[in-house]
Amino acid sequence: MPIDPRAPYDPNNIFARILRGEIPCNRVYEDAFVLAFHDIAPQAPVHVLVIPKAAYVSWDDFSASASAEEIAGFVRAVGHVARELGLVDPGYRMMANVGHDGGQEVPHLHVHLFGGRGLGRMISAG
Ligand code: AMP
Repeated sequence: MPIDPRAPYDPNNIFARILRGEIPCNRVYEDAFVLAFHDIAPQAPVHVLVIPKAAYVSWDDFSASASAEEIAGFVRAVGHVARELGLVDPGYRMMANVGHDGGQEVPHLHVHLFGGRGLGRMISAG
């Protein structure tokens, strides 16, 4: 069910619970700003989610309210994870779904990293 990207942060969303260690994840990378882990239902041979450790509902929330340090930490970490996964030379896609029309289902900002095969040029409306 797509979420309202302007709703208050729900501290019981599934990614908040992963961050608190209440639910396991297949971790790829972690630092002071982010946790990265494999998506539970991969849409490509490589499908990793990168999430900020701080509580932001969506890209809209994060881009409007995060500190410069948090934004830099998050952006640097997304690039670092893609390099560590060997995605740069073959190429990859990064994506953040926002709100209802974006199809966002988990109300904690996450960037999807997709790779491991040719991904085509455009999005699907499916
Ligand atoms: P979105 O539609 O952008 O909100 O994407 C949410 C993503 O989270 C989907 O690709 C799900 O497969 C993924 N997901 C949901 N629960 C988990 C989980 N426990 N561990 C890893 N990925 C998850």
